[in-house]
Amino acid sequence: MSLHRDSPARWFLAILLAELLAFLPLAAAAQARKPPAPPQPREVFEPLAAQLQRPYLDLFEDAPKLEFNAAQIAQMRKYLDEAREFCVREFRSRLSNYQKQRQQLQADLKRRTASLEDPERRDMHCKIQNLRILESQAQMLAEHAIPVAYENKKAKLELIEKWPQELKQIQQEIASGAYHQRRFGDVKDIGIRELVPGQERDIKDGQEAVRQMKMTGLLPPELDNPEIKKYVNNLAQKVAKHSDLRVPLNLTLLNSKEINAFALPGGFLFIQRGLLEAVEDEAQLAGVIAHEIAHVTGRHGYKLMKRATIASIIYQAAQVAAVILTGGAATLGTYYALQYGFYGLGLVLSLDLLGVSREFELEADQLGVQYTWNAGYDPSGFIRFFDRMATREGYVNGASWFRTHPPFYARMVQTKREMMFLPPKTGLIRDSEEFRRMKQELAKVTAQAEEEEKNKPSLLTPVQGCPAPEKIEYKPGEPIEKICPLPSY
Ligand SMILES: [Zn+2]
Repeated sequence: MSLHRDSPARWFLAILLAELLAFLPLAAAAQARKPPAPPQPREVFEPLAAQLQRPYLDLFEDAPKLEFNAAQIAQMRKYLDEAREFCVREFRSRLSNYQKQRQQLQADLKRRTASLEDPERRDMHCKIQNLRILESQAQMLAEHAIPVAYENKKAKLELIEKWPQELKQIQQEIASGAYHQRRFGDVKDIGIRELVPGQERDIKDGQEAVRQMKMTGLLPPELDNPEIKKYVNNLAQKVAKHSDLRVPLNLTLLNSKEINAFALPGGFLFIQRGLLEAVEDEAQLAGVIAHEIAHVTGRHGYKLMKRATIASIIYQAAQVAAVILTGGAATLGTYYALQYGFYGLGLVLSLDLLGVSREFELEADQLGVQYTWNAGYDPSGFIRFFDRMATREGYVNGASWFRTHPPFYARMVQTKREMMFLPPKTGLIRDSEEFRRMKQELAKVTAQAEEEEKNKPSLLTPVQGCPAPEKIEYKPGEPIEKICPLPSY
């Protein structure tokens, strides 16, 4: 936008117009608010909609047997787009209602401040605090949970549409031996092959990032349980030993409820408590670790970070975190902070630093599967964990996971394809006794951390002793339609 277009008169007009429009019962606006109706007869729509609720791994098995035609798929795709738009708009409008109510209350408070009796003042404080919490929840749903839920649905639709053809091609490549020529196809030389030269040059960047993160207070406290640390470290080192890593793997466990893990350039792996809680077996954890190690071996952070310095990246993250923790604006992070007493590291860290882009996610998925397999673990663990995040854990809890691990069809296919190309191996591990023992130990750590979090004062909820804040009803694992009902048959 050019400068003169920003002139006050123009703004005034624009605002006036917007206000006028808001009060006009425009047919078009009413139309846009109407939830989309399923475009197909029930017998056609519902079976396809039901497929979209199923896990990725099941769909890989069954997609070739499903019989949906191109028109049905196209109509469903259009419907999903409309449904998402409708649902996002619903929650944006709730967000703006909460904002208006809060602003009204704050204006009243200011106007009457001298004459207010204590109980009434306190009541107003509690109401304002409650509205802020509702705002952050509505925003979280509108900006994150709903879009991600629909992205997962669309990825599954694409899988149903494209996988049967893709599968045939994979089978041909296997039959002809052409798959050996794929990128990184030299899996029998893992550890010896030269993937991307210069990993060791990233160590100083990684160290610098860790130092800056500690200095700016970005890092949550460490999880200092020796048994858990020993278990996770053994597993991570085992995967590292069977990867292309040429630098020492340096593991830190963070005592935070966030479900995420990330690796900084040069081999600095961070795993959060929430991730250890969310994984269901050892192969899932190995899969996530392997994926993160692959970002280091592929030097993804180095490739994406070229234009920025570590200091500026971390400084920016610390600024975002500070705004979030003081409730400067209702953001995704504020929701996390209210929920967990912590803003979610995966939400504030630069994706460049973590080496996250669509291209590099695909690369890390492929290499991650290879490392998992090479270390003797069932490589389906990574997809199963994705399914867990998408289907059962819920999009809200997984906000930071999906920010640093965006879901899309090509990823799932990349992972599945690589699993099919790998030489067969028997005795792949899915679970272990040690994993179960780690989980038992973890349960104690979690209980203690939750107890401590309960009593922690927070800048976000400065008024103590208010009634419990309202929650927008959304249970993890429920289909997203539950929060904004769409017309059904
Ligand atoms: Zn990644």
